[in-house]
Amino acid sequence: MKILIVYAHPEPQSLNGALKDFAVQHLQQAGHQVQVSDLYAMQWKAVLDAEDTREQIDPRRFYPDRDSEHAFACGLQSADITAEQQKLLWADTVILQFPLWWFSLPAILKGWVERVYAYGFAYGVGEHCDTHWGDRYGEGTLAGKRAMLIVSAGGWQSHYSPRGINGPIEDLLYPIHHGVLYYPGFEVLPPYLIYRTSRVDEARFAVIRSELAQRLDTLATTTPIAFRPQNGGAYAIPELTLRDDIAPGRTGLRIHVESEAIESPSAAPRG
Ligand code: FAD
Repeated sequence: MKILIVYAHPEPQSLNGALKDFAVQHLQQAGHQVQVSDLYAMQWKAVLDAEDTREQIDPRRFYPDRDSEHAFACGLQSADITAEQQKLLWADTVILQFPLWWFSLPAILKGWVERVYAYGFAYGVGEHCDTHWGDRYGEGTLAGKRAMLIVSAGGWQSHYSPRGINGPIEDLLYPIHHGVLYYPGFEVLPPYLIYRTSRVDEARFAVIRSELAQRLDTLATTTPIAFRPQNGGAYAIPELTLRDDIAPGRTGLRIHVESEAIESPSAAPRG
């Protein structure tokens, strides 16, 4: 397999640094090709701005979306953006690895998403009509590829459990899983999570390495999270609301994941 690791931690000697090095070595030893975008080492520019295009459509002002579309379509993007897009197209599996900072991505990685996910590349893809609302949520440029998060958190697992004070980890990661990864087409694997990082000693580090190795060894076979495709019949278009007969009466993030428990008997997608 061809695996891209997009890695965000400022300190090579950190837990994340050690696990990134372990992952690269483990994957290469298994015969995979690996590229790493080490964002801090690359001094990745985290802010999306007018420097991202070599030609603004209107010299008087910068349009984040329209200038992105123009730059992508006309080959006018800054070289660092194009290089990351090429890595994404090259990979068949993408791993985002980061420490959970303020319940989300470190800013440098959020900035990678904002700048690399150009209009025409990750959004604004495909036609819009009565049955099809663009190529997104299950379709798109990155369809057919797999993605997985490796996330470390200082909090305990219980703090992120269904009744934990931080909120369930699946809910906190939903904007990344569903928004950043599923939206442009990735199949999203369940994350590999490390909790309570201040309590990692050599013994626990060995356990973490072994769990991570198992997840890396099964990247191609792990069942993805069963997000519902946007254009598969489950959603009304153009409202993009889930059909009333699917997960009837329920709301919230979980309804966008197929689950026998919340489907009604007649909830099979319309052909
Ligand atoms: P490190 O600090 O490098 O290491 C953690 C432990 O692993 C240490 O005990 C160290 O001894 C051990 N270790 C490191 N390397 C090795 C090795 N090679 N072998 C054996 N042991 C090793 N947490 C939350 O839960 N939610 C949040 O919202 C949140 N927000 C944060 C925001 C900020 C700005 C910051 C700085 C932290 C936040 N945290 C949060 C905590 C953060 O998630 C953790 O600090 C982080 O995940 C730890 O990862 P690290 O790679 O920095 O670990």
